[in-house]
Amino acid sequence: MKQSQTLIPTLKEIPADADVTSHQLLLRAGFIRQNFSGVYTFLPLGKKVLNIVEKVVREEMDAIGGNEVLMPALQSADLWRESGRWDKMGPELMRLNDRHEREFVLGPTHEEVVTSIVRDEVKSYKQLPLTVYQIQTKFRDERRPRFGLLRGREFIMKDAYSFHLTDESLDASYQAMYDAYSRIFTRLGLNFRAVIADSGAMGGKDTHEFMALSKVGEDTIAYSTASDYAANIEMAEVYDNYSPSTETLKELEKVSTPNKKTMQEVADFLGHPIDKGLKTLLFKADESFVLVVTRGDHEVNEIKLKHVLHVENIELATDEAARELLGADFGSLGPIGVSEDVQVICDLAVKAVANVTCGANEDGFHYVNVNPSRDFGEFTYEDIRFIQEGDLSPDGKGTIKFAEGIEIGQVFKLGKFYANQLGAEVLNDQGRAETLTMGCYGIGVSRTLAAIVEQHHDDAGIVWPKQVAPFALHLIVVNSKNDEQVALGNALYEQLQAAGIEVLYDDRKERAGVKFAESDLIGLPVRVTVGKKASEGIIELKERKSEEKEEMTIDALMAYVK
Ligand code: ATP
Ligand code: MG
Ligand code: MG
Ligand code: MG
Repeated sequence: MKQSQTLIPTLKEIPADADVTSHQLLLRAGFIRQNFSGVYTFLPLGKKVLNIVEKVVREEMDAIGGNEVLMPALQSADLWRESGRWDKMGPELMRLNDRHEREFVLGPTHEEVVTSIVRDEVKSYKQLPLTVYQIQTKFRDERRPRFGLLRGREFIMKDAYSFHLTDESLDASYQAMYDAYSRIFTRLGLNFRAVIADSGAMGGKDTHEFMALSKVGEDTIAYSTASDYAANIEMAEVYDNYSPSTETLKELEKVSTPNKKTMQEVADFLGHPIDKGLKTLLFKADESFVLVVTRGDHEVNEIKLKHVLHVENIELATDEAARELLGADFGSLGPIGVSEDVQVICDLAVKAVANVTCGANEDGFHYVNVNPSRDFGEFTYEDIRFIQEGDLSPDGKGTIKFAEGIEIGQVFKLGKFYANQLGAEVLNDQGRAETLTMGCYGIGVSRTLAAIVEQHHDDAGIVWPKQVAPFALHLIVVNSKNDEQVALGNALYEQLQAAGIEVLYDDRKERAGVKFAESDLIGLPVRVTVGKKASEGIIELKERKSEEKEEMTIDALMAYVK
């Protein structure tokens, strides 16, 4: 591709509203442009990388028997009513009406659509297991779209869905998908970890998130120094037997004013659906991270205090402050004070749970009725542990370290939730109707692109790993007024392309300094410079990663690139 004939609008200055490196570099190197908050155009270079990421994803999905499909982004609200998510999804769901005032959704995900198709088209166990996937644009009205491609409101996702009659079959597909994800992210040059994650209350059980390690990651993971153990910090430990005594509860009455809320009020207040469970609140205060999460698990009718994490340097925070800091995924119940005293934090978590008055709502949505003394039994502080760096790993091997991660993918055993809601059944080998069980598997394709940049850059710009670079080689003519240089540049461009090398050819009439700076910014793995020694047939080669430059003949170059 000749640079004079393409669109690579580079920027010298760091754009004011771009806070993270990948966002800055993708804008500055001319890969993307923002159309409006959370919505981006992929320019020619960006689209090339996107294609490469998609190709890797497709190859690995196809290799495990995935069938590519393309489902509509525009979905009927009726389907979302059938699943119950029309009411439960909250403001993240993009809703719209047509000219007849019929309601629609711009799909944030496709469980409803895919389950309805399988319900209608798959009738026998003989057609199972079945895995379909698509690479498609998704829409989520994120509370805080930010960090460029990392959290958009319109973004590209690979979503796959598998359908089964038995749990064993689901387990096998889940494992195959997990392995395929590991291959995909390895091929893309990412430093990542698969971590145990929170399955929420959608009837799911096993789930892993794939985290690209990066300081800008919005998730924190706890991992072992000596084993494969790694968990989203939300999941690092589960406290099944957390049980405050009546005395504790009395104490709690003193520390904060009772603030009773119904589940619906809580849901409205949190701005997210109650089916996700009750998440009681946390803070990120300066560098320290505090998390107290409680969750109602509606399925099994019990409440768990899940995690109490490292506490340090905490200030009193209000709900508003907490919500502001944490975004839509978190919330708190009532005014909760947080102090340095860890016990108070635990107490407050219990308090928050105890304050929830539960019942059935108008739609018949079921949830827990909390009776603290009954549901929690005896509580001692020894039941609570605080995960800190340096702790023994839960599997007994090695110690715990914390790291920030970007969620680039997630695999999830959904179970029968959607099949039940939408009535997806097949006939088993006895001729009897059985409800399907299901898995879903997502990769944030556009987010992954940004994660690669987060991990592969230096002060001068992006440093694309070879396998994802938009072009293999950047060919630069130093002086475009010099006929010999131009002639050699043109000839090399032809010759390299004929040899199957993808070349970006800077044939523009720009100053050499500009060309070099932009070349570093764009970050192709190899730069070939045609300069003063053009008349001798000598070029200069430099790998983006290294400082060294090497002069060589055209023949040596051709041997090098092969
Ligand atoms: P997050 O926790 O970051 O909000 P999620 O858990 O809501 O992500 P999933 O529903 O698991 O996301 O979707 C599958 C994948 O899609 C995610 O693992 C992530 O890589 C990607 N993704 C989700 N939301 C966004 C977004 N707003 N912008 C870009 N990619 C996203
Ligand atoms: Mg999300
Ligand atoms: Mg997530
Ligand atoms: Mg996820």
